[in-house]
This record gives sequence, C-alpha cells and structure tokens, in this order.
Amino acid sequence: MQTEINEIKRLIRDIPDFPEKGVIFKDITPLLKNPRVFRISLDKISDLIDEWDFDCIVSPESRGFIFAAPLAYKMEKEFVPVRKPGKLPYKTYSISYELEYGKSTLEMHVDAIDKGEKVIIVDDVLATGGTTKAIIELVEKAGGIVVGVACLAELTYLNPRQTLTNFEIASVIKY
Ligand code: AMP
Repeated sequence: MQTEINEIKRLIRDIPDFPEKGVIFKDITPLLKNPRVFRISLDKISDLIDEWDFDCIVSPESRGFIFAAPLAYKMEKEFVPVRKPGKLPYKTYSISYELEYGKSTLEMHVDAIDKGEKVIIVDDVLATGGTTKAIIELVEKAGGIVVGVACLAELTYLNPRQTLTNFEIASVIKY
C-alpha cells in the first residue's frame, strides 16, 4: 500500500555529506524507533521475496543484520553473517573490494554455506552494489548459489543493477 511505503519513507532521514562530502546518507534509525513501521518494512521485504527459492540469508554487518536476522526468523531461513576482518572466530574466506572512497575487506566462515546451497543477500541500503558484489563472490567461493538480492532501500541513481546483472533484486523503496 502506498501509504505504508510513505510511512517508511518518512522515517528514513537524509543526512547530507555523511560520512563523506557529497554522500546523502539514508539514516534508518528513526524507522527503528517506530516498532509498527519497522515491522511493516520487514513484512514488505518478506512479501517481495516470498516466492524465491532459497535456504539461507547472507548479510553484511552491521546495518544489514538489523533486517536480515528478523527476516531469517520470520521466514525460517538460515542466517550467515559477513563481517569486517578479524571479527569471525573460525577459518574464513576473505574478499577485498573497491568502495567509492578507498578499499574494504569482508570475511565469511568457510563452512557457513553448503555446496549448492541457495542463498539470498540482504542489506539495508543498496548503493553502488559493490558490497553486494563482493558478498556474491564470497558465497560463490564457498560453493553457494546466489538466487537474489533484497534490501529496504535502493539508490537507483548509483546504478547498482549495472553492477549486479544476472541477479533478481527486490527493493521496497527506490530513490
Ligand atoms: P554499496 O555502495 O552498495 O557497496 O554500499 C555499501 C554499504 O554502505 C551498504 O551496505 C549500505 O548499507 C551502505 N551505504 C552506502 N551508501 C549509503 C547511503 N547513501 N546511505 C546509507 N547507507 C549507505
């Protein structure tokens, strides 16, 4: 329903020039303070991916977890955390990738995903798609199959779909 989408939109705050000049940061903390609309936003994501065939949700720290973990609970799927270097206690696969500013590295446990397992990736905001692309590489290294990508908000002006060709993408809100 459009009114519900508007309610979600009203609770995502634009913070200009954070964390770098020129970036308009989509701040979801007002949404998290509203239990009803937070719940609606989770329900909207799960409605979009309800027909997708997958067993596992993979998500990057830290804002991705806020949406991915309750979705895993609601949809009764596995949850796999992807973390910054040095945070995971067991053996990891690691990937370094380019950000808009500088470089970053992400890690995932080597035994997090079974060979041939169907996986989706969940994050709060899909911006350039660079982070998601790196996670796709981690999942594929582990032998998993990425079925799609789901997020609350997609920044279409950064063209993430150009980076993530060949993958289904579900987003509740498009900017
Ligand atoms: P991406 O450019 O798609 O690799 O985005 C990198 C990560 O940073 C994503 O996980 C988003 O959560 C976050 N992010 C990037 N741009 C924004 C933005 N404008 N507002 C909020 N979060 C962002």
